[in-house]
Amino acid sequence: MTFEQGPIRPPSEAESLFIRVTRNCPWNKCLFCHVYKKQKYSRRTVEEIKEDIIAMHEASLKVKAYALKAGDGVNITRDTLEYVYRREPELLQIALWLYKGGKNVFLQDADNLTMPAEKLAEVLSFIKEKFPTVERITTYTRSKTVSRRSVEELKMLREAGLSRVHIGLESGYDPLLAYMCKGVSAAEHIEAGLKAKEAGLSLSEYVMLGLGGRALWREHALETARVLSIIDPHFIRIRTLTIRQGIPLLEKVQTGEFQPLKDDEIVREERLLLDNLDGTGYYISDHILNLLEEVEGDLSHDKAAMIGVIDRYLDMPPEERANFRVGRRVGIYRYLDDMHDARRYSQVESLRKRLQQEGWDEDEFLDDFRGRYL
Ligand code: SF4
Repeated sequence: MTFEQGPIRPPSEAESLFIRVTRNCPWNKCLFCHVYKKQKYSRRTVEEIKEDIIAMHEASLKVKAYALKAGDGVNITRDTLEYVYRREPELLQIALWLYKGGKNVFLQDADNLTMPAEKLAEVLSFIKEKFPTVERITTYTRSKTVSRRSVEELKMLREAGLSRVHIGLESGYDPLLAYMCKGVSAAEHIEAGLKAKEAGLSLSEYVMLGLGGRALWREHALETARVLSIIDPHFIRIRTLTIRQGIPLLEKVQTGEFQPLKDDEIVREERLLLDNLDGTGYYISDHILNLLEEVEGDLSHDKAAMIGVIDRYLDMPPEERANFRVGRRVGIYRYLDDMHDARRYSQVESLRKRLQQEGWDEDEFLDDFRGRYL
């Protein structure tokens, strides 16, 4: 019972069923990205994908049969999961998906709209046929690819079952998009985003804080806000640039050509972005690498509160900010209020003291720690 799986999915799709439609990334040139660097892009045939869906469907029938045997009726319970784990652990992924409701599917990998629209529609219809309980099917794609699709094609995909596209906008500033080899312009981002919305697709755009570095942070924030305000996507998801092994940008950092921002500078950049951002969608900071995860809300009425969180952080004395940064990065804190827990606060202070004794520069330690996350 095997089926192909790609390496990544958005955090919001953690409980989805993953179906691999294409392999890797057809572009694969962005300087900040490490994900597919050693792998070549290829398309899978509709037959190959259908074989995977059939295998997943058979797996789901087996899991349901185990549920009946375990006395759980048609429901997949924790007992069913244990039963499956003991007898056929390779079914666990499907069992977990059914346990979570069996409603969401995420198509892998980086840009599935490269597949001819009729073929992708055939795959989407087949998913719906085999899994009638599925309510949401989403995929990653690139603005460049969407901009080349007609609204009619996108509508056809929506009618076949596609619910949402996740797009890496990263920045709205053209010179920065070119520098980072993103392979798309701000105008194409806008065109793609508006087309997706016109076709009735839910739109999730990813922004990368810190991408402008010391030289372009201001333009990055302002132009990204401008482009996003025009598109007004349903979701804006925040990511933070991380300098790590495997990204081409590392070489430019080592030569000094690109100077990354420190955490507090990134927070100021985010403030500028938010201050200039208009929209009606939801702004989400759903990634461990973002310093202020609680900057989140509905742009139509939570913007002041979100900026308030940023100002609360920036108004803290430098020592308190340093305490929060360390605590957040090593997983002791999640939110600013976590610092009020005296036990956790002193745990962070002990760690800081140890770093000092071991001769660490705190910023270097934090950069090093950040680079270890996926
Ligand atoms: S398009 Fe996406 S997956 Fe491809 S290289 Fe760029 S960031 Fe990575």
